Amino acid sequence: MKRLLVLGAGTAGTMVVNKLRPALARDEWSITVVDQNLDHHYQPAYLFVPFHPASIGKVSRPRQKLLADGVDFVVREVDRVLPDENLVRFGDGSELGYDFLVIASGTVPRPDQTEGMTGEQWRRSVFDFYTLEGATALGERLKTWEGGHLVVHITEMPIKCPPAPLEFAFLADAHFRELGIRDRVDITFVTPLDGAFTKPVASSQLGDMLKRREISLEPDFYIERVDNEAKTIVSYDERVIPFDLLVTVPVNMGAEFIARSRMGDELNYVPVDRHTFVSPKWNNVFAIGDAADLPTSKAGSVAHFAVETFAKNFILHTQGRELPHSFDGHANCFVESGGGKAMLIDFNYDTQPLPGKYPIPGVGPLTLLEESRINHWGKLMFRWIYWNALLPGRRLPVPTAMSMAGKRDISQDTKSTTSKEEV
Ligand SMILES: Cc1cc2nc3c(=O)[nH]c(=O)nc-3n(C[C@H](O)[C@H](O)[C@H](O)COP(=O)(O)OP(=O)(O)OC[C@H]3O[C@@H](n4cnc5c(N)ncnc54)[C@H](O)[C@@H]3O)c2cc1C
Repeated sequence: MKRLLVLGAGTAGTMVVNKLRPALARDEWSITVVDQNLDHHYQPAYLFVPFHPASIGKVSRPRQKLLADGVDFVVREVDRVLPDENLVRFGDGSELGYDFLVIASGTVPRPDQTEGMTGEQWRRSVFDFYTLEGATALGERLKTWEGGHLVVHITEMPIKCPPAPLEFAFLADAHFRELGIRDRVDITFVTPLDGAFTKPVASSQLGDMLKRREISLEPDFYIERVDNEAKTIVSYDERVIPFDLLVTVPVNMGAEFIARSRMGDELNYVPVDRHTFVSPKWNNVFAIGDAADLPTSKAGSVAHFAVETFAKNFILHTQGRELPHSFDGHANCFVESGGGKAMLIDFNYDTQPLPGKYPIPGVGPLTLLEESRINHWGKLMFRWIYWNALLPGRRLPVPTAMSMAGKRDISQDTKSTTSKEEV
């Protein structure tokens, strides 16, 4: 019996086991997936929780119910991987062996990595919305907040879902307008990037959207500390930004067990081949989803396209074939822009987001790099698709590899090879 062990039953891990279980004979392969807790969260829903606290109920489902028959689910915290011994050790001292290991342990916000971030203002006037607890606490604060300076802040790239902080700023603008208190709120978007976003065409478009909403942009801001007493953030080049309410995206880091296993980089991401997901050090170890050190966005959509590619290639690999070098870094993200509209961006390792129609070239119905109501409905509908089609491993009617069909190349330079810090 061969053993496939998957660490993490989040977006990527769940899809990996659900796609591979029907394809690998049960009398030849055992498939086990491990997670540290029982409930699977649909993380994109966290964005809406501060503005619609009632949406909390729709965020989570029991992991066990999302797994295909014949997949063993183990609820345990991974302490470390011993890759030279093909062993995983857990917090309780128990161990599991494997023939193939897939690391899908994601990334988490780490406010403890920035001086003062978890000080006395934490969850009083300093919040994050990248955890359910943070989004819930922020929702409570917003109920009674009467206005002032709202600072929406990114600590350091890469972060998962890079457009989410911009979406938060757009939704906050719309929220305060709806309450009739927008004139009492100043909003500043503070980022370590040199513009609103990473890729030139999208950055300029999103920068214009900030301007139209009278949201100030503070680029190139590398935070050194949060001053809890003065209620300011201070950068390494000594710029000081005061806030009444700070909504920050803390440093994102891979799981601590990656560091304990000496398998990661300085942010605990696992180096893998960007086209095959295989580790250059251990040829039976793969990393997929946010846990991998790939120069594309950390996003559920990337996990989806990556797993589609990985599952097909892994089956070929089990038949003794070479792993095809086929993953192109395909990502697409809805960018909620408030007032019932959203934008959609679609890109890969080499090509930046461009305008056009998606998924049917020339038809859509979704519009690329342009706000529309149908994109907003697409974003809302995606939650249903996530639970009912994506996680079960059903094939969606969208191409796995990025396509230029239906796109208008309005840039001088369509190509935009990116480093992992930029996505
Ligand atoms: C606010 C917000 C909005 C987002 N919006 C979008 C969006 O609109 N579109 C989009 O595509 N993506 C979005 N994302 C990103 C998306 O949710 C993630 O990229 C996606 O979930 C990554 O999947 P993953 O499987 O790699 O990691 P995860 O889904 O995070 O799963 C990792 C799993 O590993 C487990 N794990 C970690 N450490 C251990 C351990 N030591 N032992 C055992 N188990 C462990 C965790 O419990 C977790 O279940 C958003 C994220 C956030 C926070």
